[in-house]
Amino acid sequence: MHKIKNYINDQFLLPITDEWIDNYNPSNGEIYGQIPNSSTEDIEEAYKAAKNAFPTWGQTTIEERSRILIKISELLEENLQRFAEAESKDNGKPISLAKTVDIPRAASNFRFFGNAITQFASESHESVGQNAINYTLRQPIGVVGCISPWNLPLYLFTWKIAPAIAAGNCVVAKPSEITPMTAYLLGEICNEAGLPKGVLNIVHGLGSTTGQAIVEHPDIKAISFTGGTATGAHIAKVAAPMFKKLSLELGGKNPNIIFADCDYNEMLETTVRSSFANQGQICLCGSRIFVEQSIYDTFKTDFVKKVKALKVGHPSDSTTNIGALVSKSHLEKVIQYIEIAKEEDGIILCGGNEVTIKGYENGYYLEPTVIEVSTDECRVNQEEIFGPVVTIMPFKTEDEVLEMANKVKYGLSATLWTNNLKRTMRMSNKLQTGIVWVNTWMMRDLRTPFGGVKASGVGREGGFEALRFFTEAKNVCIKY
Ligand code: NAD
Repeated sequence: MHKIKNYINDQFLLPITDEWIDNYNPSNGEIYGQIPNSSTEDIEEAYKAAKNAFPTWGQTTIEERSRILIKISELLEENLQRFAEAESKDNGKPISLAKTVDIPRAASNFRFFGNAITQFASESHESVGQNAINYTLRQPIGVVGCISPWNLPLYLFTWKIAPAIAAGNCVVAKPSEITPMTAYLLGEICNEAGLPKGVLNIVHGLGSTTGQAIVEHPDIKAISFTGGTATGAHIAKVAAPMFKKLSLELGGKNPNIIFADCDYNEMLETTVRSSFANQGQICLCGSRIFVEQSIYDTFKTDFVKKVKALKVGHPSDSTTNIGALVSKSHLEKVIQYIEIAKEEDGIILCGGNEVTIKGYENGYYLEPTVIEVSTDECRVNQEEIFGPVVTIMPFKTEDEVLEMANKVKYGLSATLWTNNLKRTMRMSNKLQTGIVWVNTWMMRDLRTPFGGVKASGVGREGGFEALRFFTEAKNVCIKY
């Protein structure tokens, strides 16, 4: 059985306490490897390596840091197939998705921040009439922690690591224990790219032990976290007394609002994707679909037909649209929500059942599920399910749909389908989310601020926002 190791100080190390966690292949339910359940001692080793590397890395020229990041990006691209296979096996996502989205975007993260750091500028302010000038230094923080979830494993892991090291920090990073494989492989790439030892340390283990040890470490001064809202709240509580800098990217329950005047076919195609891409396990999926009354029946018929045509299959099959859910416990959670929907008088328009794939009978497969709800206040419309399940319901007016869209505790993203410019502007102003997509979904420009409001998080990632998070601003005032 393959045992992966921690990557500390450019070495692959066994966990000090020799504790291990099983790693499952979601496509067949079998254990296919083990990962360290790292302890406080392992985190201390990783911290020491990062601390020792920091004085040099923090002073390494921007050109050199940029060059190494871009080299990592190139090596990821060269190793696309290997990484995509590992991601698909670990997570259950279709290999086609890992090859076209996850791994290319992980490579883009390194390339983007490798370039962005060369353009990152600070400000100066002349204090007119006082013979003084102020300028702002943007200095790396030191040792920072990056903790990421299982749904887009390498993509979100690198979304944090790349800006952190570009800005001159050294990192102690932990991927999700459910999907550790590509983070493990990243260590090899960093070594090959010539990243100095200790700049990036990748430690594996459970959130409650390894993750907690990172957050509790008094000298890890900033934590960039993506994951569930409850975990984010817990991390905030632990980190607050130590005055750590925190970036929290948390859960979502995003509205997909469809007006009758939209480009119907484009909307329909994209809505299938925004509902079920990655088995619906993307924080940005539009899991609450609101449709203007006049086209509701047509949409319902057409959408259900398209969803029924999606192929649930083995992740390695290139014709698969919907792969396996990430774990047995997650599958059970999603199924439980389908039961809750029935109890709440939701109508299952399609899906709702587990799928058995021949030869992979113990895999975690579920039909894409569309539930018609009569009120936006039911639990399946309010709570994050994070699986291949969407609700649909009609609306009559803009005000009504706006109220329903905003009446959840989350505020990550919203999608709006309309060709009415004034309505676009009005609604974009009023939607309580960090991101609004109009006539598209998940179109990403890495320069833009990314993050949520309300229970979807605190802070923004992306572009210079990420570089600002990973640096401390220091004002220098010189009187002359
Ligand atoms: P999770 O909160 O269970 O785990 C996320 C990470 O935190 C894992 O690495 C885990 O080991 C670690 N962790 C758990 N407990 C910890 C603790 N006490 N201290 C430190 N670390 C700890 O989330 P998940 O189930 O892996 O991911 C799914 C969630 O992530 C969903 O809610 C989804 O919406 C959210 N998500 C948000 C975004 C975003 O950008 N806002 C993106 C992707 C996923």
